[in-house]
Amino acid sequence: MTPQTLLISDARFLEHDPGPGHPESPARLRAVVDDLQGNPVQGTSWSTPRPATEDEMLAVHEPAYIAALAARARTTSHLDPDTATSPGTWEAVQLAAGAAVQAVEEVWSGRAANAFVLARPPGHHAEGEHAMGFCFLNNAAIAAQSALRLGASRVAILDWDVHHGNGTQHLFEKRSDVLYLSAHQFPFYPGTGAAAEIGRDQGAGFTVNCALPARQTDADYGAVFQDVFLPALSTFAPELVIVSAGFDAHARDPLGDMRVTERGFAAMCSGVVESHAKVVLLLEGGYDLTALAGSVRACVQVLAGARDTFPSGAGAGASDAIAATRRAHGRSARHLFP
Ligand SMILES: [Zn+2]
Repeated sequence: MTPQTLLISDARFLEHDPGPGHPESPARLRAVVDDLQGNPVQGTSWSTPRPATEDEMLAVHEPAYIAALAARARTTSHLDPDTATSPGTWEAVQLAAGAAVQAVEEVWSGRAANAFVLARPPGHHAEGEHAMGFCFLNNAAIAAQSALRLGASRVAILDWDVHHGNGTQHLFEKRSDVLYLSAHQFPFYPGTGAAAEIGRDQGAGFTVNCALPARQTDADYGAVFQDVFLPALSTFAPELVIVSAGFDAHARDPLGDMRVTERGFAAMCSGVVESHAKVVLLLEGGYDLTALAGSVRACVQVLAGARDTFPSGAGAGASDAIAATRRAHGRSARHLFP
């Protein structure tokens, strides 16, 4: 049988409830899954995850932090001002990380053509030793470590969430085997992600930040892909690209202030798929339910074989940000950009 696009989700992800009025609500995932199950995309199949093992979590996080999270199992508490647990949180957190590892295993082995992990809570703000910004475990980092354990020598994490993935950057900034690429609104939460942050020590040149002003469009993101992300992927030649796929850069999103549409996300996903690496998408942010469901569907259609392109007409804001990124990397010895 031809390998299909694997969608991994679980009703237990809905049991993480950070409280009334919180934007990272169970309704987000319900909207995504209802849409895809109500009107299935041809060429996709579903699976449910296993929890991450302790070893998988400890490959990224400090033992004391994992112990502290486990101690809060079945309780309601706050880990930071906007990151709260409910009785179902710890199980959902372990399943979300396990789903990311499972997606890598299925795609790496060739049993799945590619995969989209439809999980919550998200992960890219989570640091090695603490929770942050709605995130508990860094699912993308745990997935990247599992790929290296399976034998990958180079993994890229491409983060198109409107927020910078501070946790992911910090976990890999001294490493040359994991390339971190992020386009995000800047200055904005969490405050990191300036173009000058290019990695350090052995990892200098392997962190690529495109710090964009607000109100960037599909065409602007197209320029970022054309001039920064795709050349970097081509030079680095990862065997696997893990996408931190947040949809809060959508024009309708209540937290972000970008102007991306479903077409823009489909074009970003097309660019990644055409990079010839194996591809795993992990759901990060996205807080307008209609925009989220429509944008996830657009990406699933691309994973299943459709393609989309960016419109032309990038503005000066994107050009300036791209120039700053390339300038910062021009001073590194790595030559990711030809
Ligand atoms: Zn976000």
